[in-house]
Amino acid sequence: MEAAEKAMKLDKGAAAIIAEPERILEVHIPVRMDDGSVKVFTGYRAQHSTVLGPAKGGVRYHPSVNLDEVKTLSFWMTCKCAVAGLPYGGGKGGIICDPSKMSKGELERMTRGYIDKIAPCIGEKLDIPAPDMNTNGQVMAWMMDEYSKIKSQYEPGFITGKPLGMGGSEGRTAATGVGIVVAALEAMKVKKVDPKKATIAVQGYGNVGSWTAKVFAQKGCKVVAVSDINGGIYNAKGFDMKKLDAYYNKNKTLKGFPGSKNISNAELLALPVTVLAPCAMELQLVKENADKVRAKMIVEGANGPTTPDADKVFDKKGIFVVPDILANGGGVTVSYFEWVQNLYRFFWDEKRIVERQTEMMQKAFKKVYETSKEYKVSMRVAAYIVALNAMAMPMKMRGIC
Ligand code: GLU
Repeated sequence: MEAAEKAMKLDKGAAAIIAEPERILEVHIPVRMDDGSVKVFTGYRAQHSTVLGPAKGGVRYHPSVNLDEVKTLSFWMTCKCAVAGLPYGGGKGGIICDPSKMSKGELERMTRGYIDKIAPCIGEKLDIPAPDMNTNGQVMAWMMDEYSKIKSQYEPGFITGKPLGMGGSEGRTAATGVGIVVAALEAMKVKKVDPKKATIAVQGYGNVGSWTAKVFAQKGCKVVAVSDINGGIYNAKGFDMKKLDAYYNKNKTLKGFPGSKNISNAELLALPVTVLAPCAMELQLVKENADKVRAKMIVEGANGPTTPDADKVFDKKGIFVVPDILANGGGVTVSYFEWVQNLYRFFWDEKRIVERQTEMMQKAFKKVYETSKEYKVSMRVAAYIVALNAMAMPMKMRGIC
């Protein structure tokens, strides 16, 4: 962000305001566990900005959640929404917990408790949560139910990522993956790469990674490597993604998929592919492994997978990086469509969703790419320039700075 501020000569007051979230909430949620004991979970909600609209962003459940992470992620949401051209600010929430070790009942009680605690600070015109790491349609359904009870009215528009049939939108589950592929195809266009000849490695096989791999395959690209937290698999000929997905859903592991060779996550990141798509956690491409990366381009599906040190190495090596705040904006773009549909109580079909999402993301890519040429900066710095530019005028006109 500092590089962008310098390049665009952003007003110092605006820069100081954007450097910190507008509001942070820390909550402690008592949950009756299945064994009868009470456990107190710590959760957060950071509202980084409401300059361009209500705060918007997911809630993650993970043992490593912490305040700094939530604050950073909320800042990225502000930038992501601004780059995508959405009428939103940015927010993010999280609870320190290990959902893999909790029963469904415990998860439900913790989720409802979290909403009880943050209810005064959220709402369809104030702050709109959504899924993130380890949260899904079921968690959003509990959140919506709890919030509707608190407000004594039906409140679908305060949250996105809900299941279909209860205010959810067509295309939302696949949306981040679809968007990553749209961004990658735009990158291939400017780099003059034929998608049919492109090879792809995807790190992460959660909602984002699995859809990214599947949509790449649908577009005729060759997905040669995928991984999850336990390691990855490789096949130079490319996977049949339908078979691989069925295998993963049945066995809960990628390992042992017929015709594939086991590889480590470190090996996946170093493969000589056309596109490397890190779609897992933050801080995956760091100073220590950046030099080993041999991909032509990196399309960031995760939030913050690359450190500034690693970015410098990629710049030097001429690796084209499509930054997270541009590449993974597909999820929140379809969240926006879901919110609009909720406000109007009128629903669109999947074709319309995918068309509008593709159009919006292509437009965002073009804007960032042109900005990178105009200012002679990387795509990442350009994306921040686009975001900060979108915020600068309203901040001035509204008298915020
Ligand atoms: N958690 C997703 C993200 O990081 C989606 C947020 C949303 O839909 O509001 O972009």
